[in-house]
Amino acid sequence: MNSKNIQGIEVPEIGLGTFKLIGASGEQVLKSALSMGYRHIDTAQDYQNEKMVGQALKHAHIDREDLFLTTKIDRFNLEPARLLASMEESLLSLQVEYVDLLLIHWPRNDIQIKKTLEAMFTLKEQGRTLNIGVSNFPLALVKEVVQDLGAQIFCNQVEYHAMLGQFDLLDFAVENDLLITAYSPLAQGHILKNPLLVEIGEKYGKTSAQIALRWLVEQEQVVAIPKSTSVSHLQENINIYDFELQDDDFYAIDELEKSLRIVNPPFAPKWD
Ligand code: NAP
Repeated sequence: MNSKNIQGIEVPEIGLGTFKLIGASGEQVLKSALSMGYRHIDTAQDYQNEKMVGQALKHAHIDREDLFLTTKIDRFNLEPARLLASMEESLLSLQVEYVDLLLIHWPRNDIQIKKTLEAMFTLKEQGRTLNIGVSNFPLALVKEVVQDLGAQIFCNQVEYHAMLGQFDLLDFAVENDLLITAYSPLAQGHILKNPLLVEIGEKYGKTSAQIALRWLVEQEQVVAIPKSTSVSHLQENINIYDFELQDDDFYAIDELEKSLRIVNPPFAPKWD
């Protein structure tokens, strides 16, 4: 598995998304993925599966330093006291001393972000998280965090795939050495029948999903966290390292219409 080096830290390029993975079947998916070599796991307080993830990790007996584990603070836990208490619960559930990355899951404009970040930096100082970051932050908000507040964040996790562009965020990420974690990198399956992705896949003997993931990880600062419940798809999604997209194929995917936003709850911020 290749990784991206961000601020001196190696992040495996393909992680396992765990939204909706719960219970015994979820744990089986985690177990399969870890045995295949997945070492980057993405969970969240909101997914209500941190306990299951913790169980699966414990049973896998992987050296802690070989794992890149992300969780996210729920939008109802952004007030500092709640944030600190909820993080203790997350660590207990995950059965780890620390996470590699702690994210604000969604921004809120009724809670001072400065205070939330201060609490997160306290957790970083205490070694409860190695890095802090944000998710679903449009460019103006990331700029507020990095430039106005001078906060040294590591990551912005956003929806990003072949049919949704994030080019301004990417430029900013390159300039500031931030990780962009592409969530819903397969647009929850909606891009898999795209004729261009299918056609390029046929050329390389790969599936459209593999082409979509390869296009993402060939970009600076970008890693992707596809979710799957199927062993063959899990395998497929990491089997993207025996080919490279030729420039014309890479740029043809760049040129696809980029307006398909899948994750857009009522509390979402104003997108770029
Ligand atoms: P996704 O990974 O884009 O798509 C998952 C869907 O694609 C599933 O239906 C899966 O079905 C299918 N799939 C996966 N691999 C496939 C393959 N090789 N061939 C064909 N189909 C395939 O969607 P997602 O779950 O929304 O996003 C991934 C992760 O991102 C989440 O689990 C979560 O960790 C994170 N996320 C974060 C946020 C946020 O607000 N920060 C929001 C959304 C998601 P099968 O199970 O049948 O394989």
